[in-house]
Amino acid sequence: MNVPFLSFAPQHDPIREDVLNAIANVYDKQWYVLGDQVREFETAYAEFNRVEHCIGVANGLDALHLALEALQVGPGDEVLVPSNTYIATWLAISFVGATPVPVEPNPATYNIDPARLEAAITPRTKGIMPVHLYGQACEMGPIMEVARKHGLWVVEDNAQSQGATWQGELTGSFGNANGTSFYPGKNLGALGDAGAVTTNDEALAARIRMSRNYGSQKKYYNEVIGHNSRLDELQAAVLSVKLAKLPSWTKQRQDIAALYDQHLAGLDGVVLPAVAEGATHVYHLYIVRTTRRDELQQYLTEQNIGTLIHYPVPPHLQQAYAHMNIAAGSYPIAEELASTSLSLPMWPGMTEAHVLAVTTAVRGFFEQK
Ligand SMILES: *Cc1c(COP(=O)(O)O)cnc(C)c1O
Repeated sequence: MNVPFLSFAPQHDPIREDVLNAIANVYDKQWYVLGDQVREFETAYAEFNRVEHCIGVANGLDALHLALEALQVGPGDEVLVPSNTYIATWLAISFVGATPVPVEPNPATYNIDPARLEAAITPRTKGIMPVHLYGQACEMGPIMEVARKHGLWVVEDNAQSQGATWQGELTGSFGNANGTSFYPGKNLGALGDAGAVTTNDEALAARIRMSRNYGSQKKYYNEVIGHNSRLDELQAAVLSVKLAKLPSWTKQRQDIAALYDQHLAGLDGVVLPAVAEGATHVYHLYIVRTTRRDELQQYLTEQNIGTLIHYPVPPHLQQAYAHMNIAAGSYPIAEELASTSLSLPMWPGMTEAHVLAVTTAVRGFFEQK
């Protein structure tokens, strides 16, 4: 059985007509940038995320960048960020001229370890960027406590975790302003690039709203040096259709993860995902870890099972950050995760037969010699 790493078909086929109608509606209205579709989606997403404000932007990286800019983060400032995140979180910090200060994750949950935050704080530290990696909510209680104690802001990277919760509260609703991504493969994906900032801070929301549109509130009057980072009407229209399906897609992801857990339990040499007490996981990705990762990936490829590595090189070892001169070995947990993690297929619509094909192959690999 062929199991692709990701298939959109089971998500997109049943809503094909609704999505095409939404697209046709924008086409016929002849209003393509910052109109009713964006306003409607922003309202719906703010409601979904239980926040006061949602500002649609061009992509997830811009959402994080604009949030930091609105918080007036700049040169000389240090920002605590996971050592094992996708590079976008670091890039947003670099774009405003601040310095990313890596903090190692909890090796069981892969999320930033709240117990390691205080040791990384210096007089220049201004904020914390927790990333709800792979779809699991960070331990936001202890993180917010450290932030309060030291007068730091918090910007959550919610790109992989729409709908996840920490003690009943949704990710994307804790920080001063938070970024999310609607890149097609994310749990809520557009048909192209898209993203949003979520916040309960009215002043920050107003600043970001202005900044995404050339620093302008009134056409051709520019108050600040802004960006062109707007969510398109077309993408907003598609996202509104898809948002209504997100809770059922999340449930399917969680059911698939439970099946993986069940069928891979007790397999020697494989570490399965662990969920922290108080957190929920929306399984943007289902990661297993093994010291034989590359061999396992090769074996699964031969069995027609698609896998990916999230992520093969941690940000501090990327060429882009060579100027920071961080030696290999400096962040051993991030480095070990990079060399042992493998993402198994995970998409709403995967059947039990798909999951069993994957788990049978994984078991076959470990039991062959
Ligand atoms: C996808 C992603 C981003 C960036 O989102 P884009 O829309 O691709 O710019 C940021 N952070 C994390 C953790 C992501 O997974």
